Amino acid sequence: MRKTTAEAQPAPSNAPGNVGDVRKANLARVLAVIAGAHSEHRLSRADIATRSKLTKASVSSLVADLLESGLIIEIGVHRDGERGRPSVGLILNPARCVIGMEINVDYISAGLVDLSGKLLTHQIVPRLNRAVNAEQVIDALSELSSQMQQAAEAQDLKILGGGLAVPGLVDEKSYTVLQAPNLGWEAQTLDVRKLLSETKTRFRLFNEANASALAQQQLMEPAERDFLFVSGEVGIGGGLIIDAELFAGPQGHAGELGHVVVQPEGKSCSCGGRGCLETVAGQEAILTAANLGVAARGVSRQQRIERLYQALESGQEPANIAVADAGKSLGVAVASAMRLFNVSTVVFGGHFAALERWLLPATTSSLRTYAPSIAGQAKLRFSPLGQTGALIGAAHSVVGDLLESPHQLVG
Ligand SMILES: [Zn+2]
Repeated sequence: MRKTTAEAQPAPSNAPGNVGDVRKANLARVLAVIAGAHSEHRLSRADIATRSKLTKASVSSLVADLLESGLIIEIGVHRDGERGRPSVGLILNPARCVIGMEINVDYISAGLVDLSGKLLTHQIVPRLNRAVNAEQVIDALSELSSQMQQAAEAQDLKILGGGLAVPGLVDEKSYTVLQAPNLGWEAQTLDVRKLLSETKTRFRLFNEANASALAQQQLMEPAERDFLFVSGEVGIGGGLIIDAELFAGPQGHAGELGHVVVQPEGKSCSCGGRGCLETVAGQEAILTAANLGVAARGVSRQQRIERLYQALESGQEPANIAVADAGKSLGVAVASAMRLFNVSTVVFGGHFAALERWLLPATTSSLRTYAPSIAGQAKLRFSPLGQTGALIGAAHSVVGDLLESPHQLVG
């Protein structure tokens, strides 16, 4: 989260809806103090004044605005050994949330994330979206989103915004999927208004791997500010976190590890290139190499993946060779990325996490072979987020935007 840099100053009076820059910054500063407090420690207005270095009078006025915005609530607090009337503490409003959604090749998903970043509920619905018109997929997701909105209403939760992640390159401003080869989509502008009934709420579109990287960031230690997230699904995506911020490049397309070439004479790739990492380590590539390709008619990819796990468990050679080859190529791509970006931590998500036992030895050995001087520093991890990573990351980013700019909900 970006830090507020404005100097502490008394808050000027402002007409509603016309919040001055200093007041905007101070609203964010007070909210950051409240959001940053440990959940067990409810801060009073006096505590907030001390921590924010703002005057008590300013804090009282800013807190009044934040209470009105619905982002925070007051709560009675008994301090240790205190008797009698409780003092008043301030916490993020647990009845406010953001909806996160994902469209992937084999499923759609939606979930609610509260202002503290906690996933409250979610649903993953298997659905074949490859080569299906984007409008039809949005209509299906709209139904799932309606169910989530009803679930929120039933629990008195108010949705303040939404985020959607897709496995492709996106133009966030125009809600356009520029290229999603595994969905067969090109230049598809999504009608995201169908996804949230409240039109005034904030909505953002993300690349799936970038969103997953942002979700993973919440699980990292504070000192781990740089890492590469490698998301393995049918396609392979990458999200790069540098100094605790997503590095997305000038057009937002950085980190596309799946289309880094690992076999110059290799197979044709969905991107139009040849020998990309995805052609060796993507889900379909591994299944095909393990003799579990699409030729197995009438069998879903999920069923074929289950068969892959069984084949690996029972030591069947084609499956073990397929995953070892994928691990080797992952090592080649990761070695280059580690050198290019000077990162030593790499987190594997999606189907890679389920393959950890078989993938890790091959990836580690590949790193030692192709990058012996940096292999010793490499920290290879596997994400526990599974298929929820992208929806959590998309929602969490929108929560972050709201907490950084609370004035949007004031006045
Ligand atoms: Zn490619």
